[in-house]
Amino acid sequence: MISINTDLRRKILENNEDIKKCYQCSTCSASCPVLKYDPDFNPRILIIKALYGSEDTLKSKEFWKCLSCDRCNERCPQGVNPYNVLLKLKNFLFSQNLAPKERIDARELIITSGFSYPISSAVNRKRESIELEALESIGEELKKIVGTEGAE
Ligand code: SF4
Ligand code: SF4
Repeated sequence: MISINTDLRRKILENNEDIKKCYQCSTCSASCPVLKYDPDFNPRILIIKALYGSEDTLKSKEFWKCLSCDRCNERCPQGVNPYNVLLKLKNFLFSQNLAPKERIDARELIITSGFSYPISSAVNRKRESIELEALESIGEELKKIVGTEGAE
């Protein structure tokens, strides 16, 4: 039995009515570098499940495997922008606190330091050994740019 999440469906359709034009031609799947190596990841199937707001889509979390390469967006003959749909799914999960912990941690790290990995003394020693400048957190500058300074 298919379980429908109406909030998800509304979110997906928000500014993205073109998803209704998907005629399941599979051009996105044929273009996808992930599907080439992982048959469990199929943009065409994710699109139809997202269109109907299937809970299954959220539980499978397959879409986290998307590489954001944009090939499906460029090639879709219907202007569905499959990658944008997957991005909305990710944003929806973040907004519902349903994103995987490692994704939430990575986002926090980027927001607080500007880097997607921890800046450690070991990293900086390695950089120094090949005459590269030490890395420093740019979290404060980021706060000013995205306007979160003083928000806490
Ligand atoms: S999203 Fe576009 S490319 Fe993919 S199946 Fe639908 S119409 Fe075809
Ligand atoms: S953006 Fe994602 S879904 Fe689209 S082709 Fe690239 S990896 Fe596949």
